[in-house]
Amino acid sequence: MEFMFFDDMKPNIEDMELVFPSSICVHIDPSPVKIDFREFEGNPYLKEMSMNRGFHEEHMAMVDAWLPRENPILVFDWDKTLSVVEGIDMPPCDPWGTRWLQNTFEDYNMTLENVCHFILGGYARIALLKSFFERTKAKIIVLTNNPSACPISKENTSYNRPEFLRLIRFIIPTFQEKDLVPGHLYDGIKSEALKDYFINGFTIQNIPYYVRVKNGPPLLIKKRRRTRRKTLRARFF
Ligand SMILES: [Mg+2]
Repeated sequence: MEFMFFDDMKPNIEDMELVFPSSICVHIDPSPVKIDFREFEGNPYLKEMSMNRGFHEEHMAMVDAWLPRENPILVFDWDKTLSVVEGIDMPPCDPWGTRWLQNTFEDYNMTLENVCHFILGGYARIALLKSFFERTKAKIIVLTNNPSACPISKENTSYNRPEFLRLIRFIIPTFQEKDLVPGHLYDGIKSEALKDYFINGFTIQNIPYYVRVKNGPPLLIKKRRRTRRKTLRARFF
């Protein structure tokens, strides 16, 4: 299988090169760069953490040189590759009976744009990424070991795949859910995850996946109770 793979972690690059020798694996420099944090003043997501350059112009030039070809595939890590920081402060899910309420960034008083502005390294880089993905005719896969890319499950409330998809779609609006491959479910071995994806496709059917927008279900309960009480009253009077 021929594809380009971008990741900031050397072991992931080595693993992929071994299992997919015909792939082109590009190591993204993880070292921190000097950032003018004034751009992020007032951003509610602002954190004191280092940023790297991430996937940038020089890597885009590599893609341009590798394309055009038939059915090209580009596989991206997320943390410190498409984003420029390690990790996402993902809103956790709240238990609701036997189900889970999906929290969003908005529930934590910030917008998707606030979060992307910071973790993608500022508006200039966002514009660069957006224009790259808009003009690049290739299948895009995001292969991340970040646990929050996993479907919501009661075992780990920080799993929040729907919010993760929103982040990706901020720069790639046409991104398909099936192309977000959670390496975390394959013990972090990215080649294993990708092999399974190529053979079977990533399916979420066997994994608990309860998505309820916050404030949705409680409203529904109230309505039901009201209806039932009304019915009872109607019978008595
Ligand atoms: Mg990474």
